[in-house]
Amino acid sequence: MDLFEYQGKQYFARFGIPVPAGGVADSVEEAVAAAGAAGYPVVVKAQVQVGGRGKAGGVKLARDAGEVALHAGAILGLDIKGHVVRRLWVEHATDIAEEYYASFTLDRGARAHLAMVSSRGGVEIETVAAEDPSAIARLHIDPAAGFSEQQATSLVEQGGLPEAARAGAVDILQRLFRCYDEGDADLVEINPLVLTADGRVHALDAKVTLDDNAAFRHPEWDGFRDIDELDERERLARSKGLQYVGLDGVVGIIANGAGLAMSTCDVVNQVGGSPANFLDIGGGANAEVMANALEVINSDPKVKAIFINIFGGITRGEEVAKGIVTALERVDIAAPIVIRLDGTNAEEGREMLRGVESDALISRPTMLDAARTAVALAGTSPATGGSAR
Ligand code: GDP
Ligand code: MN
Repeated sequence: MDLFEYQGKQYFARFGIPVPAGGVADSVEEAVAAAGAAGYPVVVKAQVQVGGRGKAGGVKLARDAGEVALHAGAILGLDIKGHVVRRLWVEHATDIAEEYYASFTLDRGARAHLAMVSSRGGVEIETVAAEDPSAIARLHIDPAAGFSEQQATSLVEQGGLPEAARAGAVDILQRLFRCYDEGDADLVEINPLVLTADGRVHALDAKVTLDDNAAFRHPEWDGFRDIDELDERERLARSKGLQYVGLDGVVGIIANGAGLAMSTCDVVNQVGGSPANFLDIGGGANAEVMANALEVINSDPKVKAIFINIFGGITRGEEVAKGIVTALERVDIAAPIVIRLDGTNAEEGREMLRGVESDALISRPTMLDAARTAVALAGTSPATGGSAR
């Protein structure tokens, strides 16, 4: 789960990482009230889960209530890289002397945590990595050994932070590691970490990704879930208990099981197509579930063909087929559907589908056949040499 900046700062504060005082606002009036509480001057910041808000006009300095109202009005509703701003964070402005970068993340390849520190903050770290990789100090951390003050000190020195910022940065790095480790995050990033004109170091931005696998031991994370960040289709899917992820392509995918849904995306790609989504209907494939899944996919105008890929396990093939047929009676589907049904009682299921087959409902015996057919119907060029089974 990705946190918004204001949530990330709340999480940071729990581990004693200094952040400016501020408040959340969903309207111009609330922004003015939050500014008064934080103390002028303030910074009005768009809360969207995408970087580069500053450049996009989503971060503005305000010296009085009039300026807060002006900026809050302009930022609320602003579209930043496809994310519409619905919430603001208004905090006491910082008089910045210098901007740095600090993060911890998981390096799966190295089976270790990776710490990164740089004196070049405030710009995207990818840009620094491309232009001047030596400006980023990196250190792998053995998860069993933990992160020591000594390691923090050497990172801060290697990252090129000046003497004035070192003690503050070393303290914050140690707290940031605890936030990452005990806080069960996959990523914690401060960009920029700033040295203020009066010599303090604090976090001006917060990017936190929590590890969903640890949610069971963090009941307090429920407060972070914000359905508003989901798009309309994701919300519809979630309300129906389906796992849906929207993608950019034209082939809608329905599969039972996350593994099969992922494989289906891969096979569609392999034969030259592009998945419009990932939709896992879970173990059951009854009419209700299937109708819900088709309804979600049908609401996506990008979808030019639908590929239903079901492997019957406990759910038998004829039940799946019955579910599909009943669902089609309930939902008026715009795109042609290609079905691959396999597993327990697959032949009985296919027999049922044969009775209702048409140009708009095609059954194919294998995943690869079905993928090719769906991709062809969607109007993209099938690849010549797919090798999926
Ligand atoms: P991002 O663009 O989405 O990463 O948003 P940030 O929160 O990192 O803000 C972008 C930039 O705005 C920072 O790098 C700062 O240069 C500037 N900025 C943000 N808050 C303040 C502030 O309180 N005072 C000043 N002077 N600049 C700020
Ligand atoms: Mn930033």
